[in-house]
Amino acid sequence: MRHVAIVGSGPAGYYTAEACQKQFGDQVRIDIIDRLPVPYGLIRTGVAPDHQSIKGVSRRYEATALSDNVRFVGNVTVGKDVAVAELLDLYDAVVLATGAPADRALGIPGDDLPGVVGSAAFVGWYNGHPDFADLAPVLDGPGAVIVGAGNVALDVARVLAKTGAEFSGSDIVGHALDSLDRAMNERITILARRGPHQIAMTPKELGELGHLERAAPRVDAADLPPEAEDAALEPGLRKSVAHLRSFAASDVEKPITIEFDFYAMPIAIEGDGKVERVIVERTAIDDEGRANGTGETYVIPAALVVSCIGYRTPPIEGVPYDAKLGRFANDEGRIAPGLYAVGWARRGPTGTIGTNRPDGFMIAEQIADDTAEDYGKNGRAGLDLLLRDRNVDIVTFRDWQKIEAAEISAARDGSPREKFTSIDAMLAARAE
Ligand code: NAP
Repeated sequence: MRHVAIVGSGPAGYYTAEACQKQFGDQVRIDIIDRLPVPYGLIRTGVAPDHQSIKGVSRRYEATALSDNVRFVGNVTVGKDVAVAELLDLYDAVVLATGAPADRALGIPGDDLPGVVGSAAFVGWYNGHPDFADLAPVLDGPGAVIVGAGNVALDVARVLAKTGAEFSGSDIVGHALDSLDRAMNERITILARRGPHQIAMTPKELGELGHLERAAPRVDAADLPPEAEDAALEPGLRKSVAHLRSFAASDVEKPITIEFDFYAMPIAIEGDGKVERVIVERTAIDDEGRANGTGETYVIPAALVVSCIGYRTPPIEGVPYDAKLGRFANDEGRIAPGLYAVGWARRGPTGTIGTNRPDGFMIAEQIADDTAEDYGKNGRAGLDLLLRDRNVDIVTFRDWQKIEAAEISAARDGSPREKFTSIDAMLAARAE
């Protein structure tokens, strides 16, 4: 029997559990530990609430969670309630699947002014993450500036621009829906430090901006490279660029403009005690594809700046960490004997949800290669004893099902659920 602890119950965690089941059959016991009382990580608190079909993958994780040899251990923070070294004593393998839930700083003057938020915080706020429920972003004002040209920038622009009615069928939390419905930012600017051929936006997600009720995307045709050059792009990017071309050709006017500002890099954020303007420098791309400032600057008035420039994995005490890359130091997933990283905690915040599946299978194979069948470790019995001694209030999968039932019954019309946004409320719902 192998005892495996997986830290983190998002896609990387559940795919690793599924892979370990395939690898070891009934000769494995898997504990999936999460610091929140609710499972599914990025699926619950990262994927946009109006992308319910993507969130549907949690049903697959549920099937894994409900199997006999897999257990959910919620409301337990590794590094605080239990140390990694203690887990390594109890389990044959400890897999860190903690994702990349922290924002990377913009690193420019004024990036700490009220009104500057990272995408982890902003996305967490509209998705009901307990850490960010009180964010209260400023949604009115001269404009909102989004930094970055990836899919998270698109999520943020779309959510800022949608009407309340357009969130029908979504599970956006009530506090965000009310604020967004009342908000009216006439200009949302997406700052891309490089050009249309260097965006990290996928076609389906970019195309959605062309179908919003009260907002229209705008691209300056002068920023687009000659059309013949699109032929050399990989097919997905070529489709994305085709969307940009259609936005540039469109003369549709709507109350909100989503402006794509290419070759534009924020160099300072200014204001009297809060964000009032972003100072932007025009860039040019060098032969290595890097954006360099040209010295030409201009000002964009704004009350909200959301930086969507990627994420990092928070360190855990006792685990080797690569501060430059913002993730655990690892060699193809191996950190130290018995200790592994998987998903975004291993490779950084790239790829789709599905990319984490082969990642999980790779780690399961490594565990098979590195460990023998029975070291006589204590596994979950040992963890239970240790957590009971420390009065840690474990949330089981059965408890989560009660929390979920309460969320479903509290849903507004047409919405799948109304999420609890505090840990206390989640814990209280177990008793219902
Ligand atoms: P991303 O795809 O890595 O995009 C980050 C963007 O930020 C890039 O355009 C990058 O520009 C820019 N950037 C980085 N540092 C910057 C700086 N200091 N100043 C200005 N711009 C900067 O990251 P993401 O949007 O956070 O997405 C993370 C992952 O989740 C991606 O794989 C994404 O596809 C995925 N995702 C998918 C969906 C979906 O499929 N619906 C939704 C959300 C997220 P450079 O290219 O110049 O570095």
